[in-house]
Amino acid sequence: MFIDLNDLALRGGERHQRVYSLDVAPVVLGGAGYQVLVPDGVKVAVNRVAGGFLLDVSLDARVYGPCARCLQEAVLEVHAEQQEFAATAKGGWEGTELSEFIEELVADISAITREALVLALPAQIVCAPECKGLCPRCGHDLNVGCCACGPEGIDERWGVLKDLRLGDDVAP
Ligand SMILES: [Zn+2]
Ligand SMILES: [Zn+2]
Repeated sequence: MFIDLNDLALRGGERHQRVYSLDVAPVVLGGAGYQVLVPDGVKVAVNRVAGGFLLDVSLDARVYGPCARCLQEAVLEVHAEQQEFAATAKGGWEGTELSEFIEELVADISAITREALVLALPAQIVCAPECKGLCPRCGHDLNVGCCACGPEGIDERWGVLKDLRLGDDVAP
């Protein structure tokens, strides 16, 4: 979805505000795919400011996919917002001040939405903060109950140590 900022015919100090409904492609996080729903749409505000346009994009997304710990379905509600600037004249701006998503005053709203969402997501999506995950030995879902592996199988410190080893050759 693109908006040509010139088409808005905004004069200095004017503002264009609209809600756009658009589909957001699934995001991949830690190797797993997550579906994205934006039920209330993506709010876009364009402000005509000195030297260019200031774009504010905000959305409330619902992200669905496997819990990073137990692999059961997890749902995350996340608020994302992003501000981008586009200059009406090329000269006089640092590259870092200009939006990489706005070319020739045509704003790629889908790309800005995606960037905002990805930045707002946590490193891991879990079904609940207290999710106990799977037994590292037998794969049993520890939220359902203990498995037969015994105490060391469900000791969380064991899991942490295992993760820390990361392929170095220190003997356990
Ligand atoms: Zn979980
Ligand atoms: Zn087990």
